Amino acid sequence: MRLLITGGCGFIGSHFIRMVLEEDAAVTVTNVDALTYAGVEANLAGVSERYGKRYALVKADIADAVAMERLMSAGGAGFDAVVNFAAESHVDRSIESPRHFIHSNLVGTSVLLDVSRRCGVRRFLQISTDEVYGSLGPEGRFTEASPLNPSSPYSASKAGADLLALAHHRTYAASAGQEVMITRCSNNYGPYQFPEKLIPLMIAKALSDEPLPLYGDGLQVRDWIHVEDHCRALWAVLRHGQPGAIYNIGGDGELRNREVVQLILAELGKPESLIRFVEDRPGHDRRYAIDSGKIQAELGWRPLRRPEEGIRATVAWYAAHRDWWEPLLRMPR
Ligand code: NAD
Repeated sequence: MRLLITGGCGFIGSHFIRMVLEEDAAVTVTNVDALTYAGVEANLAGVSERYGKRYALVKADIADAVAMERLMSAGGAGFDAVVNFAAESHVDRSIESPRHFIHSNLVGTSVLLDVSRRCGVRRFLQISTDEVYGSLGPEGRFTEASPLNPSSPYSASKAGADLLALAHHRTYAASAGQEVMITRCSNNYGPYQFPEKLIPLMIAKALSDEPLPLYGDGLQVRDWIHVEDHCRALWAVLRHGQPGAIYNIGGDGELRNREVVQLILAELGKPESLIRFVEDRPGHDRRYAIDSGKIQAELGWRPLRRPEEGIRATVAWYAAHRDWWEPLLRMPR
């Protein structure tokens, strides 16, 4: 299977690339990444050496239609599937400046859908997020039928991309044979996550004995999933998912943000007095919870890692890999 994977130098994409190359010797990967601040080539250190010609990196912007056309129509390219991870992914940055989010998440997805259809790529997997559903009250879970109700420029751009992907499937599946699928996953954690996201940011601050800034009252609930569980779900959807379908992916791991931070501090033996409550993020969603019954019933996938255990292992990884994250924190914003 020849895969065109976008955003593969980011957090989740890099795990997915390692997983599929290891899992199936018949897989080849072309990784298209614009290498933004979040695209870290070191996330895939050793992959070229280990897998040789089965892996290639192309530096390009997915919103650049000419570059995407050149890549997908090149002699012998013959991709079987596009897996679109590439995105601006940090909510806080989207609130400060939505422009890049529209460019990469919306225009980029539209270009990829269009070019891949014209170049005859059969499958297209759009990697989306549970944030497209907005916020829940204390009860209930998002299903694939929940209405889209995004709260931030980030989640609005992802919801827009989902609608483009679904419309694309409806318009072209029959005539052009292109099969589009969407996955909506909850909050990921694990190694190689850029140290601006909650868990790695708090670990980095705690390791440096700096105050840990926690939005509002810290009682926002998120469903946490280990990145490897997410990647196994994506691999199942890519090979066996129903064309045109949406699959929710959750970790069955609801925790309050404050509990996550307390877990990190306890693991590092640091005092809770390091926590600083700061003004809440505008439009901050109160609770996400995911019903992943559909993917469990249809594809037999389920999350294997409990968040408490997985977060402890992640703390240990960051403590042992300061050489990976410290230079990223020193980069100009
Ligand atoms: P990330 O920010 O770590 O990585 C994004 C990658 O995309 C980077 O390598 C970056 O260089 C690349 N990129 C950005 N814009 C690009 C462009 N225009 N052209 C080419 N490459 C570009 O993100 P992540 O956390 O790995 O998330 C990957 C995907 O999964 C995103 O689509 C995100 O919306 C989705 N998602 C993330 C989570 C999560 O908890 N992190 C949860 C659900 C869904």
